[in-house]
Amino acid sequence: MLRFNDILERLTSYNPHADTDFLRKAYVFSAKVHLGQVRLSGEPYLNHPLEVAGIITQLKLDVASVATGLLHDTVEDTLTTLKEIQGNFGEETAQLVDGLTKISLISLRSSEEHQAENFRKMILAMVKDIRVILIKLADRLHNMRTLKYHTPEKQVEIAQETLDIYAPLAHRLGIDWIKSELEDLAFQYLHPEIYEEIKRKIAKKEKERARYIDEVKRTLMKKLYENHIESEVAARLKQIYSIYLKMKEQNIDFDQVYDITAFRVIVNSIKECYDVLGITHSLWKPIPGKFKDYIGLPKENMYQSLHTTVIGPYGERIEIQIRTNEMHRIAEEGIAAHWKYKEGKVVEEAEDKRFTWLRQLLEWQRDLKDDREFIESVKVDLFPNEVYIFTPKGAVKQFPIGSTPIDFAYSIHSDIGNHCVGAKVNGKIVPLRYELRSGDTIEILTSPNQKPSKDWLKFVKTSRAKTKIRQWFTAEEREKSIALGKEILEKEFRKYDLQQAKLIKSGELSKVANEFSFQGVEDLIAAIGYGKLTANQIIGKLLPQEKLEQQKEELKEGRFQHLIQKITRTPKDALLIKGIDNVMVRYAGCCNPVPGDKVVGFITRGRGVTIHTADCQNAMDDDPHRKVEVEWDSTKEYNYPVRIRIHSEDKKGLLAEISNSISSTKANIKNARVDTTEDKKAVSTFEVEIRDLSHLNKVIKALEKIKGVRLVERMRVEAQVES
Ligand code: MN
Repeated sequence: MLRFNDILERLTSYNPHADTDFLRKAYVFSAKVHLGQVRLSGEPYLNHPLEVAGIITQLKLDVASVATGLLHDTVEDTLTTLKEIQGNFGEETAQLVDGLTKISLISLRSSEEHQAENFRKMILAMVKDIRVILIKLADRLHNMRTLKYHTPEKQVEIAQETLDIYAPLAHRLGIDWIKSELEDLAFQYLHPEIYEEIKRKIAKKEKERARYIDEVKRTLMKKLYENHIESEVAARLKQIYSIYLKMKEQNIDFDQVYDITAFRVIVNSIKECYDVLGITHSLWKPIPGKFKDYIGLPKENMYQSLHTTVIGPYGERIEIQIRTNEMHRIAEEGIAAHWKYKEGKVVEEAEDKRFTWLRQLLEWQRDLKDDREFIESVKVDLFPNEVYIFTPKGAVKQFPIGSTPIDFAYSIHSDIGNHCVGAKVNGKIVPLRYELRSGDTIEILTSPNQKPSKDWLKFVKTSRAKTKIRQWFTAEEREKSIALGKEILEKEFRKYDLQQAKLIKSGELSKVANEFSFQGVEDLIAAIGYGKLTANQIIGKLLPQEKLEQQKEELKEGRFQHLIQKITRTPKDALLIKGIDNVMVRYAGCCNPVPGDKVVGFITRGRGVTIHTADCQNAMDDDPHRKVEVEWDSTKEYNYPVRIRIHSEDKKGLLAEISNSISSTKANIKNARVDTTEDKKAVSTFEVEIRDLSHLNKVIKALEKIKGVRLVERMRVEAQVES
């Protein structure tokens, strides 16, 4: 059993100036709060934090980490609060303890195999401080060492999780000995028979192997000595788990696995590494393709060594690793060997190179005079651009940072996205704009009446959600355009005694569609709704020319004539119509809206969308079901015709003065009409092109300044005939 003094001794061996009082305080605190608790093994609970702290000293971590090892279960398993930890041990230790508590609270079990990688990433995304993971690994290692006290079901569950999540994490962090031990322990519980069998077979050949190892070692050492290379040659039995993997992958028996022993040569310099390689290859024939130079090209977890496999004295394969002392230390301690935290330094990482930060750490390490001087915290946001969340079923999904419930909803199904009204995160209702955080469990609320909003495009983060929302609007727009197109056609057809339904049935419209190169009647009708085609263009294809002319004449006669010619214009692009873009737009003659006016739109029979000012009486009387929301698009400049009525004296030269005044405001006069009365008064009606409301007001102000002008008004027709 490990004692506190053993831990102190180990800590001070690599960190002579460590604050031992602080550590002692942590020990006393832990002993006090865990007092009376026992582990499943029957031993006092305190043994666990002591063992964990002991493993942390093997990783040569700092005092805060070792203290956290002692305190790591206090918040989760005793009445201790995080505040107490903070009060007694400061912010740093409190945050480490908090990180460990948080990890232990998320349930990492899932039946889906591919989830393991996501779980690993989630853990990495949740912790801001890499020490939390290292302490967690120490915790897991001791729990695995004492797994035998659990029920068989629990053993399998914990072993599987260890194999799926924690062993790979240890590997990524470059701590090979923890990775190997975790794997062998997990394997032992997951496949006890195979484990025992391999172990037995290894034991059976124990003597034989010892002799063999001795022979290889002596041959090699002799040769190295002759070449004046100071070295250390060690043999180690390969992990049982990796022997198993080899048997499984190559589909072979244990007896066919030759290289269950691996040799390692440790020297003082990189040059010597390559020398040793040459000597080895001169002794035994290398197997082509088996040489790996991890010195020239280190692994992502910073591992460096030369690997080679040669044909040994009995024709068997021998795997040999060659490395320097320093490389060996890194291989044993992994990332812990290499860190130094720099305040405020943000590690940038490429999408696919998640672990480039390890290389960055290596860079920092070079700046240090002595990385053993002290080991400080490493605070790296491992996945700064991603969040990992749980589905209600416990699966993990990855999203870009800033993603919202809508992103999640569309990731399930576009129908769920389209009808998403809200979401529950960790059981609480959140707004649609809520930004997801790693570890959240999210559930989507839908309603059949819900529709996507263009606003959503402003805050969704995934391209899938964006695409699906846009697709919905395109479909919606088309639907509306078809409805609109039908109405326009219906109205125009009526004038020529044509019947839409009949024309569709008979296939005549289909022919017209072909002539205009549309896929079908629906596309043709939609094109009319969009304003890409006019009803007359279609009628022109349906009726013979003479019939068309005749009908036109008749229509002309009966047409209602306005005082002032109806303004025909379609600067439709200047308007943004919510939900339907690209439709035929008309500005109501009654209120003549100009940019700046508050406007509403109405889908009108046969005339596309008519725009009124919001306060126009005609608009208020109109059918609210036909109302569509419209907005001016301020990014575009157009000229809008507007009618102005000027009441003035009837005097010579006034008309010229009025025209000059209008021109001076850079407005364009399109039409003018002056009516004089017998009492020497004049009423002039001007059709003027202006840019927007403020431009119009400028024109009116200028006109009002003219001597003789009594009143200037923007013209609105009281009653407008709208069919
Ligand atoms: Mn624990």
